[in-house]
Amino acid sequence: MITERIKGNIRKNKAIYTLLLFSFVSLLFIGLTATSSDFLTAPFRSFKDMIVLLVQWGAIMLVNFPFFFLLSINRYIYALLFPLISLFSISLAYFRYTTGTILTTMIIDVSLDNDLRISQELISIELIYLLVITLLISIAFVYYRFNRVGKQKTRQIFVQSILASVVGILLLSYYPLRRPSLERIPLNLIAVPYQYLKDYQEIKMSRKSLGGSLSIEGERPLVVLILGETLRADHLALNGYPRATNPRLCKETVISYPNIYSEATYTNASLPHILTRADSLHPERAKTEPSFIELFNRLNYQTYWLANQSSSNSFIYFMKECDSLIYANANKSVYVFDKWTDEDLLPHFDRVLKDEVRDGQLIILHTIGSHWYYNAHYTSDFEEFLPTAKSRIVSSNTSEEMINSYDNTVLFTDYFISEIIGRLKDKNALLIYLSDHGEALGEGGQWLHANEVEQAHNPACLLWFSDEYRLRYPERVQTAEFNREKVYRTDVLFHTILEGANIKWEFIDPSLSIFSH
Ligand SMILES: [Zn+2]
Repeated sequence: MITERIKGNIRKNKAIYTLLLFSFVSLLFIGLTATSSDFLTAPFRSFKDMIVLLVQWGAIMLVNFPFFFLLSINRYIYALLFPLISLFSISLAYFRYTTGTILTTMIIDVSLDNDLRISQELISIELIYLLVITLLISIAFVYYRFNRVGKQKTRQIFVQSILASVVGILLLSYYPLRRPSLERIPLNLIAVPYQYLKDYQEIKMSRKSLGGSLSIEGERPLVVLILGETLRADHLALNGYPRATNPRLCKETVISYPNIYSEATYTNASLPHILTRADSLHPERAKTEPSFIELFNRLNYQTYWLANQSSSNSFIYFMKECDSLIYANANKSVYVFDKWTDEDLLPHFDRVLKDEVRDGQLIILHTIGSHWYYNAHYTSDFEEFLPTAKSRIVSSNTSEEMINSYDNTVLFTDYFISEIIGRLKDKNALLIYLSDHGEALGEGGQWLHANEVEQAHNPACLLWFSDEYRLRYPERVQTAEFNREKVYRTDVLFHTILEGANIKWEFIDPSLSIFSH
């Protein structure tokens, strides 16, 4: 009797072990063929780095494992879903390898806007072969599931399902595991479309108009706003940084404001604050009010958002406030480390400048600027400060390498802004550059942003006027020059951009404008 019970227990446990092993192998198939695609292109310098990357890949597998176990418990569910997951995962990996494309909410947005012709162009004969092979392999998995992995009792299935769900949800609720897992194959197949739907809701959510009487006094200048990324003020030669990080802008009549304070130190919190009427007393306005773009729209300005950064739930509303939204790199995310420079915005900027508009243009350029991984965001011509970082694992680089790479991005931004200026010289134009926040470069042992280091709260801010603009509004330009050393919060952008565009609005706060004494 006892032997029979032991035998029964062994049989029962064996069934669970087989199922665990089977779901692990299923996951491994996806993990090695598809999830690895992001890791194989990650820059690293040593064996230690390789181990760190392997651990990160392992962590993503760990988060996925409970879900694959859940998927494998019922063989019919497995037969339906595993081939589908395999086909989609392999397709994503294929595009990752061949075109550097990853699945983003912007890709979904663009695809839904485009006609089917573009989707057809994406399908190549290689992809079809790959999908056929994948289908055959996944059918073999399904066959194995039906014939070699035994059935279990209902009670066991019930307990296992609950256990797997709880473990999966617990792992996903841990932030350092959640973000990288949801951004990568295969969980991104669910997470990215879900995020897209959330963004869609955010856009549809109505924000009450800013109201107030509104008019334009005089001409309508061309207004260009460059939203910078991670550019700290003290690394500009314009602000006295000893390295020549602004060889081009030093030759232009640019006014640099070294004493700007940004409340938040990461993009998602900082941008809504900058674009809306939010200030330290009314931070909630970033979530409830439209941005200054609404006022330009009401005045019949043609408004554009040229994006060279991933869209995000926290500022998608403002992107969509513009008449035109153009993605320069819809297929990129900061989770990959391929070349990704702001130069890609220039052809779009040129095209938009040629648009025939009657009532003026507001063009917003959202740049990738100096975002980590620094080396990805400048071209080899700008690799002036050497040696540079070699690994995406921050601690594997020396301080000198990190700062050199960072300064090369500053050099690239110097070039990018001067290219924009070059295109505005013969117009009645105003250019504002404001970085969303700064960056820590080793201060207090901290690196990158989203920390409380002083330099992360001190973004670069520049103003430039064309000759025609200077002639028309000499006093305004003088005041802007006079206020150069003043301490401001990023709250000034909202009121400064309106005053700079000659906009009269009931609720403009002159004390919050660079153009006021
Ligand atoms: Zn940022």
